[in-house]
Amino acid sequence: MNKVLFAAAEAAPFYKTGGLGDVSLALPKALVKENVDLKVVIPYYKKLFPQKYAAGIKELTYFQVQVGEKSKYCGIKTLKLDNIEYYLIDNEEYFGRDSIYGYWDDGERFAFFQLAICEMMEKINYIPDVIHCNDWHTAFIPVLLKDKYNWINAYHHIKTVLTIHNIQFQGVFDPIVLSSLFGIGMNTFDHGTVEFYNNVNFMKGGIYCADAITTVSPSYAEEIKTPEFGESLDGILRDNAYKLQGIVNGIDTQVYDPATDPNILAHYHVDDIANKVKDKHALQKSLGLPQVDVPIFAVVSRLTRQKGMDLLLDALNDFLRKHDAQVIVLGTGERDLEVGFRGYQMAFPDKFVAAIEFNVKLAQQIYAGSDVFMMPSAFEPCGLSQMMAMRYGSVPLVHSVGGLKDTVKPYNHFTGEGTGFGFDDYRPEVLGKTMNAAYDLYSNNPREWNKIRFHGMKQDFGWQKSARKYRQLYQELAD
Ligand code: ADP
Repeated sequence: MNKVLFAAAEAAPFYKTGGLGDVSLALPKALVKENVDLKVVIPYYKKLFPQKYAAGIKELTYFQVQVGEKSKYCGIKTLKLDNIEYYLIDNEEYFGRDSIYGYWDDGERFAFFQLAICEMMEKINYIPDVIHCNDWHTAFIPVLLKDKYNWINAYHHIKTVLTIHNIQFQGVFDPIVLSSLFGIGMNTFDHGTVEFYNNVNFMKGGIYCADAITTVSPSYAEEIKTPEFGESLDGILRDNAYKLQGIVNGIDTQVYDPATDPNILAHYHVDDIANKVKDKHALQKSLGLPQVDVPIFAVVSRLTRQKGMDLLLDALNDFLRKHDAQVIVLGTGERDLEVGFRGYQMAFPDKFVAAIEFNVKLAQQIYAGSDVFMMPSAFEPCGLSQMMAMRYGSVPLVHSVGGLKDTVKPYNHFTGEGTGFGFDDYRPEVLGKTMNAAYDLYSNNPREWNKIRFHGMKQDFGWQKSARKYRQLYQELAD
């Protein structure tokens, strides 16, 4: 079986800021179950590493990595957890910080990470058949293999897959990084492989140099080839469409299971959801909302424009004034949006709660305790939260784009089919109308409501089908 090295900037259960972290746990797990010989490489963010896993860490080796003119320490640690072997790349200066991203030198930090991965393979004599790169933090590896490490014979057979989890984040830096960080000349810049409006673009380089590109849903794979969604890389993606495909993400159905989730008070499953109401009352109590039987509309999300939070802010006023409903928003993000949601909490203290934090336990309690889960994203590569919500019996209400279109089937009141609510026209009034429709159905037609919820809970969101597609891709590349 082919050897695969899966490289990512974050992976649950160690660290997660969003979907990439979830996928970097669940996909490797599913691939190992499919007998793929796979290892994962991630940075060792020392301060963020959960204590409970730290005891299993072993030191493997260390060496120096040349970052431009600077020679930097690179430790390689290993850890085995749930049948997956991890390589942890250690450098305290780059990764011993309080957060994963958001530093002025992120370009240098992830340049080091990628150089370290390329050097590590030879140093520890682990040469995979395929390197699976994820997003801009590892998108430059295919460029490095072609341009910097092409003299290493052992690397010649290595094939690369680049998965685009979100085309909005591309890793764009001054061209000086080619020499000052990677120690390579201007070739790739002059040929236009990595050049992007006079800067260097890691993602663009990856798109050109990787042997295969995947995105996290079939619809998003189509959308990013258009100017509307391509974030200026649509032309490049059209040029490389022959090696691009969409494979929809799944969720870890063991972790996200209302029958066993340790984060929630009362457990239930699709054939007996009587206990869900206990989770609803517990949620209301813990957030200081009246424990009444009104529908709870919820959001667990980065509070950004990408996630349609500006649209929701616009639509909320009417909705909260008109309806006997409760709305809960959990998340952090753009300051003006956070302030907007806090404002609603002051105006509607019995109906609205803004929990401005990142809190995994509360997130699970919201999936379990809410009735409607809102994701009015402007664009959505895949989205995991809507699948988690469905599994917990919270009916998704989504803007039908990207992965939301591929995973939520809008309710059709003629046929009674559907797993949620969807809208196409991206305007606050249309979101508001869709929220009203969900409110009306919940309040006036519990039978239909239960049907939608039941259909959602019954969906198969496990990783197996998609993991098999990745396995097939690895095989095709390695043969
Ligand atoms: P993203 O674009 O942020 O990756 P996804 O829907 O793919 O969006 O994944 C989001 C993941 O992050 C889900 O597991 C969701 O539960 C989690 N999440 C988002 N915001 C929060 C928060 N404030 N607290 C806890 N978990 C969160």
